[in-house]
Amino acid sequence: MADWNSLYEELENLKKEGRYRPLTVWDSGSDTWMTLNGRRVLQMSSNNYLGLTGHPGLKEAAIAAIREYGAGSGSVRTITGTLRIHDELERELAAFKGTEAALVFQSGFTANQGVLASILGPDDVVISDELNHASIIDGIRLTKSDRKIYAHKDMDQLEAILKQSGGYKKRVIVTDGVFSMDGDIAPLPAIVELAEAYDAFVYVDDAHASGVLGTNGKGTTDHFGLNGRVHIQIGTLSKAVGVVGGYVACEQVLKNYLIHKARPFLFSTSQTPAVAASCLAAVRVLRQSGELIAKLWDNAAYFRAGVQALGFDTGASETPIIPVIIGNPAKTMRFSDLLLEEGVFAQGIVYPTVAMDKGRVRFIVTAGHTRADLDFALNALERASRKLGE
Ligand code: PMP
Repeated sequence: MADWNSLYEELENLKKEGRYRPLTVWDSGSDTWMTLNGRRVLQMSSNNYLGLTGHPGLKEAAIAAIREYGAGSGSVRTITGTLRIHDELERELAAFKGTEAALVFQSGFTANQGVLASILGPDDVVISDELNHASIIDGIRLTKSDRKIYAHKDMDQLEAILKQSGGYKKRVIVTDGVFSMDGDIAPLPAIVELAEAYDAFVYVDDAHASGVLGTNGKGTTDHFGLNGRVHIQIGTLSKAVGVVGGYVACEQVLKNYLIHKARPFLFSTSQTPAVAASCLAAVRVLRQSGELIAKLWDNAAYFRAGVQALGFDTGASETPIIPVIIGNPAKTMRFSDLLLEEGVFAQGIVYPTVAMDKGRVRFIVTAGHTRADLDFALNALERASRKLGE
């Protein structure tokens, strides 16, 4: 008889290690204060960086699109699934990013998978930062190319690998723009210089940098003044943009290639009209988001300084992602639970997402937080920390 015994065993082990997590089910939409089991809780883990998930313009655009086009798109992009609204969104994204073209996917995850698996072949090498996102790692796993991993942001090691990679047809350096677990920024100027010296392509995943870094949130490339020197920029429409979806901003030739090769694009139904329309509205909001982004960074600096003043280790954080590093997985999850008792939701993140001794409670500050919210969270941190020590 077939049975699931091995799965039960694994789940029991997760419970023993304090890593078993039932899903948290929220009773309200994503906002700074959310409702959980009838209780108001301060949200400090959402990627809703600019508070756009509840923006009236995005909601209205979604409703209008449903009225005009219906609830679904009917098929994949290459059949009936490219509606006027998808085309407009791609034009708007390309204009926003200052690239020749953009291609939209159903998520940031499938954008990474689809693009990496399409551009890398058996004669190529992909060179990837060790802390890159899971979707990059999975995308690379789908290719037949050689793969080299360099230690996090280690430019000497990257150069050493490039020096030995002369025999490959294509060399592609892949990095997150902002690293999602630590909130530090990739050394993109150094990466671009090395790429130019060794004829390599540069691929940046800006999931946590879109809407956060650069003019009006244009991303890491713009932040460092490297426009025109990065070949592939991946973005997500799920975080600062506030909806769901992913995209690649690139040259037209690459877009044309991906339309014929990227499997999530070819074989999975396109974004619903409501999603595409609210993404389009969001990108238009982004174009005038200077004040919102300034508030986001102001909040992040205030909160990080407050956390550090309480004696916590915030690791390498230099963006609105602010980890409070606790270490041991069980202790980390207990700290996250204690914070919830104090009315603050901050996600515990433990092995295997981060190293066994680097468990952390990851705070994400948004432009929607008020000073009073941030002070509430700092007080909660202080009280939870006292309880953790008891
Ligand atoms: N890349 C990075 C760096 C991310 O943090 C995420 C989101 N977890 C993704 C890609 C995937 O984006 P999406 O949620 O849109 O699939």
